[in-house]
Amino acid sequence: MLREISTAEKEQLHSIPELEIQARWFGGEFGRQFTSTDGEPVEIVQFGHWNHGAGPDFTETAVKVGDEIRRGSIEIDLSVDSWEGHGHGSNPGFNNVVLHVFLQGLKDGEGRFFTRSEDHQSIPQVQIDLQQLADSKPVPLTIPEARLGRCATPLADMREDDVASLLVAAAQFRLQQKLQRLQKIAETHDSEQALFQSLAEALGFRHNKVPMAVLTQRFPLAMLKKESSSKREALLFGAAGFIDFEKLEESEDPDSKAYVKELWEEWWKMRSEFEPETDRALQWKLAATRPTNHPQRRLGALAGLLDSWSAFAKTALDFESNDWDVRSRKLLAAVDHSFWKTNYTLKSKPSAKPLVLIGKDRVRDILGNILFPMAVAASPVKSWKKYAELPAVDSNESLRRAMLRLFGNDLVRRKQFSSKYFEQQALLQIYKDFCLEDASECANCPFPEQLAQWG
Ligand code: SF4
Repeated sequence: MLREISTAEKEQLHSIPELEIQARWFGGEFGRQFTSTDGEPVEIVQFGHWNHGAGPDFTETAVKVGDEIRRGSIEIDLSVDSWEGHGHGSNPGFNNVVLHVFLQGLKDGEGRFFTRSEDHQSIPQVQIDLQQLADSKPVPLTIPEARLGRCATPLADMREDDVASLLVAAAQFRLQQKLQRLQKIAETHDSEQALFQSLAEALGFRHNKVPMAVLTQRFPLAMLKKESSSKREALLFGAAGFIDFEKLEESEDPDSKAYVKELWEEWWKMRSEFEPETDRALQWKLAATRPTNHPQRRLGALAGLLDSWSAFAKTALDFESNDWDVRSRKLLAAVDHSFWKTNYTLKSKPSAKPLVLIGKDRVRDILGNILFPMAVAASPVKSWKKYAELPAVDSNESLRRAMLRLFGNDLVRRKQFSSKYFEQQALLQIYKDFCLEDASECANCPFPEQLAQWG
C-alpha cells in the first residue's frame, strides 16, 4: 500500500540535486518501464552513457516509445520547464534527445509544458514518480560511466594471445577503412588534396572536423598553393567567417588588432567573390572547446602548415625511406606562426609563453590516422611494424567506455591491452562496430558469440 508523502517530505524530495537524480536514474532505481505524459508506454532499452561534455545528460541510449525504438540521448531536468530555461529548445546539440525526464511539472493552473527541439520535433516526456523517489534509497555517486558488457565474460576467459590477435585484426581492419576513405578522396581529386583535407579534419578534432573539411574543399590545395602566404591566410580566415572588421575595435590587444587588420586588408578585396552566403556559412562549434583547440587557432595551424607544405608533403609521402615517420613528426611539431604561437583567438590577449601549434597527441593522431594507413598500403610489413610500436595517446571518452564495457574492473587487462596506439584504435573499432550499433543493452549483440569462435 502506498504511504502518504507529507508536504515537508515533498519539499525535501524536490530539493534533491539534479546530479543525484541522474545517478539514481542511471543506476536503474526508477526501473525501465514508464508511461509518458501522453499516456504511451516507454521502456528504457539501453541507459547509454554519462555525457561529460556539452549536450544532453546521457548519450547513446535506446528508448522504446509505443512500438518504436528510438536511439539518441536522454535529458534529465529537475523541473520540466528547465528545458527552455537552460536553452535546450534552441540548441541544435539537443536535437537528438529522444526522451525528456523530469521531476517536477508546472505548478497547478500553469497549464502544460511541451518539450520541443530546436528543429521543432516533439520529444516524449516522462515524469519521475515522487513516490518511487521517496521509497528508493540514495545511491553513492560513484556509478561507472559505462556498464559492463555481455562480452566481458568471454573476453576475460580468453587467452592473452587470443585477445592480442583479436586486437591486431580489429586495428588492421580500421587501418583499411581509413585507407579506403583517403583513396576515395585521392581518386576524386589527388593524393595531396586527400592529405590536405584529412590534415585539416584532424586539426578540427573533435567538434570542427566538418567545417575544416568543407573549407579545404571550397579552397583546395592546388588553388591555395598559387596564392601568397598572406592572401592564402586571409582567404581561409575570411571564408571561415572569422574576420569581422566591425568588431575589431573590441580587441584590447594591439597585436591582435594589427593581425586582424592585415587579414582584413587582403580579405576585403576578395570578399565579394569568396564570402559564402549566410545560409552557406560554416558552422563552428565553440562551446566546450579548450582555448588551445579554438577553431581560429586550429586554422592558424593549418595556415602555418601551408607555409611549409612542399617540404612536409615530400617527406610525409616518402614511404620508401626508413625515417619518413620521424621526419614527418618533427615537421608537424615544428609548424610555426608568428601570431598563433602565442594567441588563442583573434581577440584574445597573447599568452606569456609560446604554445605549440600542433601538440604531440595531434601529431600522433595525424600519423596514426592518415599517414600510416597510406604507408601500410605502400609497404605493409615494414609499416605495420612501425605502426604497432606507436605508444598510446591520452584516453578519451569513447576509449574509456570501450574499456569499461569490455574489461570492466580488470585494471591489469585494461592497461595491458591499451598501452599501444593500435590497441586503442582496435578497441575504438569494436566499440564503433558493436556497442554503437547495439540498441538492446548487449542482448542482441553478436560480439560475445563471435569471441567464442576466435582463435
Ligand atoms: S554491445 Fe556488444 S561489444 Fe558492446 S559491450 Fe555489449 S556485448 Fe560487448
